Amino acid sequence: MKVAIGSDHGGVELKAELVKALSSAYEMTDFGPADTTSCDYPDYAIAVAKAVASGTADFGILICRSGIGMSMTANRFQNVRAAICANVETAKVTRQHNGANVLCLGADAVAADLALEIAKAFLSTPVDESERHARRRWKIERAQRLSDCSGLMHDDPEVFAAIEAQTKQEDAEINLIASENTSSRACREAAGSVLMNKYAEGYPGKRWYSGCLPVDAAEELARTRACKLFGADHANVQPHCGSAANMAVYFATIKPGDTIMSLSLDQGGHLSHGSPVNFSGKIYNIVPYTVDPKTEMLDYDAMEKQAMEVKPKILLTGASAYPRTIDFKRIREICDKVGCIMMVDMAHIAGLVAGGAHPSPVPYADFVTTTTHKTLGGPRGGMVLCKEQWAKALDSAVFPGMQGGPLENIIAAKAVMFREWMSPEKKGYAQQVVKNTAAMCKVIQDRGYRIVSGGTDNHLFLVDVKSSKGITGKDAAAALDAAGIIVNKNTIPFDTESPFKTSGIRVGAASATTRGMKEPEMVKIGTWIADVLDDITNTEVQARVKKEAAELVANFPVP
Ligand SMILES: *Cc1c(COP(=O)(O)O)cnc(C)c1O
Repeated sequence: MKVAIGSDHGGVELKAELVKALSSAYEMTDFGPADTTSCDYPDYAIAVAKAVASGTADFGILICRSGIGMSMTANRFQNVRAAICANVETAKVTRQHNGANVLCLGADAVAADLALEIAKAFLSTPVDESERHARRRWKIERAQRLSDCSGLMHDDPEVFAAIEAQTKQEDAEINLIASENTSSRACREAAGSVLMNKYAEGYPGKRWYSGCLPVDAAEELARTRACKLFGADHANVQPHCGSAANMAVYFATIKPGDTIMSLSLDQGGHLSHGSPVNFSGKIYNIVPYTVDPKTEMLDYDAMEKQAMEVKPKILLTGASAYPRTIDFKRIREICDKVGCIMMVDMAHIAGLVAGGAHPSPVPYADFVTTTTHKTLGGPRGGMVLCKEQWAKALDSAVFPGMQGGPLENIIAAKAVMFREWMSPEKKGYAQQVVKNTAAMCKVIQDRGYRIVSGGTDNHLFLVDVKSSKGITGKDAAAALDAAGIIVNKNTIPFDTESPFKTSGIRVGAASATTRGMKEPEMVKIGTWIADVLDDITNTEVQARVKKEAAELVANFPVP
């Protein structure tokens, strides 16, 4: 057991006695001070708290005259629970109940022999793992979901109110928006960090401004981790969003007026794949392809035939609302035949690719673009992966081609997210997302609803509510919203409704899976969806589902 110990000038003598007495049983690291020259207690509290927060020490001991200033400082650190103890009994209880890991002693309050007894009791008492104490300790940690932003309560209460409302909404509702997820606290910490203060035009090692060493380190981590995670030659982690990542590829490769062949928006494509209202549709000649009208799946033979006629410069695949596995190997064959650039926008499925739950486009595609906030579950942002031969063109297209200073705080959060994906649990998460989606989809299908393409292979599915119940996607989504279930209206292939009404809803399981839900919960949610859609005017059913949904999510807290 490693114990970090520190004091101020008032606690130096007691510290020396404890170090001497505890050294035989514990690995003691003395953070000072060495003598009784007047000093500032927070300096030593911070050093010891850092050791405990980072996990380099198992316990901390802090001593000043009262122990109070030490505990106040140490408790500012995450994963630190500092307790002032003046007798053996409280030392035991705070270990058992609160899981305290830093002992604060007042040199004026306890004599040396009592202090030693307190320290021994503290260090040797195990944490009580029973449910009620575990729950209360969890609530201490949980308070941080709000307290992380609590300075705003005073500095900007209006903005704080918005953050608090979002926190409450996430706590109470079931989020099935297929393009959303829930970020980890670690990601949010990096995203809100001082790295946002730095201008860093350029790339690590080649910046326009001085003072970029810290942000260089963060960006290099993001780049190398992205390459390792996806097996890519090169990564550019600077695009501010998924649309910007796509723009970077177009700018790096083709000229205005050149032809891009892409899945049309109303079939599941994305705005930035050539919609007339988007820059992509205004600058380039867009030739859309569709899914097969019968199977509602990609038809690779038809795609090949069309591509051979159209001769696009870029063949773009990837979608915002396509529930099936995409055959990237087959698309590579088409691109080789046509002699065009293969570009894959894996914004939606990137997490499944990272976790091995969907085949990777990276070995085949010249360029792979993605967002970092959908199934990947990181900060809102974009990224491009490419083959080495395109690295220079890509980097120049992003900067100076289309962006100025990168958001280094967000890039650092991307790095945190990539590291999270290297853990085995996260790989299991990707498989669970697919299983959860399938479980939820099956219930709705069994209740008589038509599922676009007959099912799902990934993190989302589309319900054709028009042909099933004669209602629009807009009205279906509104009814579910009233029941505490958040989905979005979505066009289905060859939709006869307008994009504002639509015939479908899109349902995804990434966020629910992040909360820890598994198949039994997904079956419940699927049942509720069918209950609500069976009669969207029935407000009693909506109220009942809303109550049951809130009870369910209470057991699956948002990280
Ligand atoms: C979400 C999405 C994007 C764009 O993401 P933004 O970050 O909102 O610009 C691009 N492509 C696809 C396929 C998407 O689903």
